[in-house]
Amino acid sequence: MKVKLYGVRGSLPAPLRNEEYRAKLEEILKRAIGSGLASAEQIPSFLDHLPGHLSQVVGGDTTCVRVESDTGDIYILDAGTGLRPLGDELMSGPWGKGQGKIHIFFTHTHWDHIQGLPFFKPIYVPGNELHLYSPLPDLEDRMAYQTTERFFPMPFHSSASSKHFHQLKVGEPLELGGAITLDTHPLKHPGGSQAYRFRSETGTFIFATDAEFTGEDLMSRPDDAAFFDGADLLVMDAQYTLDESFSKFDWGHTSYTMAVNCAVHWKVKNLVLTHHEPAYTDDKIFENFKNAIEHRMALQHSRPRIFLAREAAEFDLKEMRENDTGRA
Ligand SMILES: [Zn+2]
Ligand SMILES: [Zn+2]
Repeated sequence: MKVKLYGVRGSLPAPLRNEEYRAKLEEILKRAIGSGLASAEQIPSFLDHLPGHLSQVVGGDTTCVRVESDTGDIYILDAGTGLRPLGDELMSGPWGKGQGKIHIFFTHTHWDHIQGLPFFKPIYVPGNELHLYSPLPDLEDRMAYQTTERFFPMPFHSSASSKHFHQLKVGEPLELGGAITLDTHPLKHPGGSQAYRFRSETGTFIFATDAEFTGEDLMSRPDDAAFFDGADLLVMDAQYTLDESFSKFDWGHTSYTMAVNCAVHWKVKNLVLTHHEPAYTDDKIFENFKNAIEHRMALQHSRPRIFLAREAAEFDLKEMRENDTGRA
């Protein structure tokens, strides 16, 4: 199973702003002068050795994740604005010829998890089948509502693909193509949100965003521990710093500190911090990432390995398992 991230921003798209771009450039050029960079051939290596916040951007698109089974079946989690570039990629395959099946699983229907759908090109190609999944009984109404004429020029049901809605029963596993078993688990979030767990021979991947965990929850909810227990890869809401999470209690998101506490408690092997606060710059998000690792070390645990969710980041469960030395 492989997991690729297309949208990692929480709440609202947050494109890189001019001031931040300029500040990155200034810092990069200062480092280039300091390192004595003297020829074009040295540039790739110079770039590779820059710190993360200078060599990359976190990305501004909202939540969208692609899961690929070992047999090549594609499943999509959430339809945030990251769904647009994912759709553009799919157009070069069967989805561009009207021969594709699309399966999208929704954690919930807040804007940042649905707004990419009207800009997802495969839904406009006749012949494609669009399958939409959620435990919500009225998912179809919600999807149609966001494209009523007051909000969008093309109604959802006027797009050419065929639409199939599937209401999931929480707690009842679903067998997917590609030898994957899917489980759902409710999360604490205004209006509710669902975690999805994909189990296959190569490991267990859990996607749990738009979830608020506190220290109290961690100790008092054994059903959470059973669901998350020992996951190979957990992509988890870590929107805030701990301080900010206190001032935004009940907003439905988790601090990176608490995300680490949860992952340690659940014996997760690899944790990816996602749903980044749109007001945070790359500098701040990379700083939080560094602090998350330091926090885990302060807890005296070598697990989980911690990663920062960035657009286009890929995780291959089989490879991660094979390369797992037991050390962080
Ligand atoms: Zn969200
Ligand atoms: Zn939400």
